[in-house]
Amino acid sequence: MRFDADVLVVGLGCAGAAAAFEAAAAGARVIALEAAGGPGGSSALSGGEVYLGGGTDLQHACGVEDDTEQMFRYLHQALGPHPDDAKLRLYCEGSPEHYRWLVERGVPFKPSLYQGVSWLPPTEDGLMWLGENAWPFTETAVPAPRGHRPATPGSGGQLLMECLVASARGVGVEVHTDTRARGLVTDASGAVVGVRARRFGEELSYHAPAVVLSTGGFADEESMVADHVPALVGHRRVSDGRDDGSGIRLGLSVGGTVRRMSATQIALSVVPALACHGMIVNARGERFVNEDVYPGRFSQIAVLHQPGPWFTVVDEQGWEAVPEAERWGVQPLAVSEDVAELEVAAGFPAGSLAATLARYGADAAAGADRVHHKDPRWLRPLRAPYAVIDATAGFGGSGPGGASGFTLGGLRTDLDGAVLDAQERPIQGLYAAGRAASGIHGAGYVSGTSLGDGTFFGRRAGRAATR
Ligand SMILES: Cc1cc2nc3c(=O)[nH]c(=O)nc-3n(C[C@H](O)[C@H](O)[C@H](O)COP(=O)(O)OP(=O)(O)OC[C@H]3O[C@@H](n4cnc5c(N)ncnc54)[C@H](O)[C@@H]3O)c2cc1C
Repeated sequence: MRFDADVLVVGLGCAGAAAAFEAAAAGARVIALEAAGGPGGSSALSGGEVYLGGGTDLQHACGVEDDTEQMFRYLHQALGPHPDDAKLRLYCEGSPEHYRWLVERGVPFKPSLYQGVSWLPPTEDGLMWLGENAWPFTETAVPAPRGHRPATPGSGGQLLMECLVASARGVGVEVHTDTRARGLVTDASGAVVGVRARRFGEELSYHAPAVVLSTGGFADEESMVADHVPALVGHRRVSDGRDDGSGIRLGLSVGGTVRRMSATQIALSVVPALACHGMIVNARGERFVNEDVYPGRFSQIAVLHQPGPWFTVVDEQGWEAVPEAERWGVQPLAVSEDVAELEVAAGFPAGSLAATLARYGADAAAGADRVHHKDPRWLRPLRAPYAVIDATAGFGGSGPGGASGFTLGGLRTDLDGAVLDAQERPIQGLYAAGRAASGIHGAGYVSGTSLGDGTFFGRRAGRAATR
């Protein structure tokens, strides 16, 4: 069967929905192909946090001062080393407008600031901190909270995607579900002019002068993970199970190139508030980071640079300071007044945790975390009994499985999402966005920057595809 359109969007997560909306709003006939039985992808499972700033309407409504330069400085350091400067600059400059675009698509944001530390606040607050107020970033940029969250307790990804998909359908985007793109069609000049797809065993042929690949990352494709992000092998994946890298491979098949393929988000099953009230230690029982940074940062530092397994250590006061519902079901591996007993339980060298607790206590008493610079508001000497919590045990008894992560690298694109060949020339007719592409990230990650750059550059790709 043959279908014709002006723009084909392959994969209907956040990037695809943003691209499809913009293309259709510009007057193009758009067909979106989605391999699953419905749209949403990993985006719909996500927390829904979108990293925005530079003075968004929501920041103003919460009384938060921010500007583009401070946002750029924070992200440049937090997403580094080597973020994509040009994309990042554009992203920061366009951020207030992008927030308004999300609101116009019907995404609700409540004008209140969540002051706690969490992967995912249990409230409907629209704004949250994502590590901006922690060292070393406090030395680089004026801190401002920039995590923008749809107004729903916990995960907001479903709500976000309902709004984006409804908006895309509202401007006439035709959605073909259960339809997997399997090949790109090119003309004699090498330009991409269509997609070969399959639906329930039927071969389908889609034709259009522009194709946007928005199929997500490759966390679920073991061989690609082993080739590019070996640090993730043996860990769990943060995805809908369909991040199979198919769009990246489609792009490569017509001469596209890739970038930042080793970049990865990583999460330990550490409750950030417990870590702030206590400490995180490596397999030697040593601290290695200020625990009040964005939790993906301490997770990444741990998994990539510190001997594991890793543990949260907290005392009774710290444990009680975090409401049970916000402990996400984590349980101590061991609890004891006797530090030597805990060292045996966790496999630390004898005397190591005792030394770490003594140093931490001395620093806390002096009001300054001299080596790791945790903010003084969290500092206090810990007192027995202590709990040691395995940081790889999973939340809510999900069982051991190490850390979890998703991939950040993908097709090399220009600022308008055009896929670039080895000479850095755009491949005619081919665009990519979201985790199928390489976005603003260098080696680092901050929550909200995946949905953020996916929708932001998805929009640009959708508009460029109509030109
Ligand atoms: C639990 C969880 C929490 C997260 N929290 C956040 C957060 O708060 N903030 C944040 O920024 N990021 C978060 N992330 C990461 C973020 O959700 C993803 O990185 C992002 O959604 C990727 O968007 P995308 O549009 O590129 O891909 P996706 O949303 O995965 O969409 C890709 C779509 O393409 C389809 N597809 C794949 N291959 C094909 C093919 N060959 N043909 C047709 N269709 C195909 C898939 O079925 C899928 O629907 C979270 C992820 C998870 C799983």
